[in-house]
Amino acid sequence: MRYCFPPAAQAAIPIAGGDQSFPVRRIYCVGRNYVEHAREMGFTGREPPFFFMKPPDALVFVPEGSIGEMPYPQVTKDLHHEIELVVAIGKGGSNIDAADAAAHVFGYAVGLDMTRRDLQGEAKKTGRPWEVGKAFDRSAPIGPIVPAAAAGDVANAAISLDVNGATRQSSNISRLIWSIGETIEHLSALWELVPGDLIFTGTPEGVGPVGPGAMLHAHVDGLPELKIQIV
Ligand code: MN
Repeated sequence: MRYCFPPAAQAAIPIAGGDQSFPVRRIYCVGRNYVEHAREMGFTGREPPFFFMKPPDALVFVPEGSIGEMPYPQVTKDLHHEIELVVAIGKGGSNIDAADAAAHVFGYAVGLDMTRRDLQGEAKKTGRPWEVGKAFDRSAPIGPIVPAAAAGDVANAAISLDVNGATRQSSNISRLIWSIGETIEHLSALWELVPGDLIFTGTPEGVGPVGPGAMLHAHVDGLPELKIQIV
């Protein structure tokens, strides 16, 4: 193959406890997957799951023990944090049953679905796509991927986000409206999942704005903490 210029680098996230990385193909995100967050956004919390995507090059990898940096993005005046459990797919498939979904999971990571809320709100109001609010450059900070066997009881793990030392979001993965297995079932009915796909599973209540200088500590029990500063 003779490319007319060098192709972009393969997006990849290091795997905790080894020297391998997880090559990322697609990033799927679930909207409104915790009841209290759906309510704070003006919905009943009983809608079926829906999905959007971010491009793989939106990932900002932060190694365990480091503090990453995310530049305050262009255009927005209302950058919001959304802490999320990220599921890494290791075995692909279509129409996967929720009961069989665990066999398709490679591992888990802590991620942030950073959101230009003002642009997303404008898109909702005008019925336009969400990319300007969700899929912007560096919109997806993420920590290392922990293999499923080493991640503990993720389905019942506490999930929380502190901003400048104050807790803004605090919930438990067990409070997902659509469990990890049910999310994989719905998603794989719409798209064929392939090894390398990531799923941001949705955020609990307490989303809010962060400005330059804000220090975010994102935590899910059993996974390395994700620390990042808005600069
Ligand atoms: Mn989200």
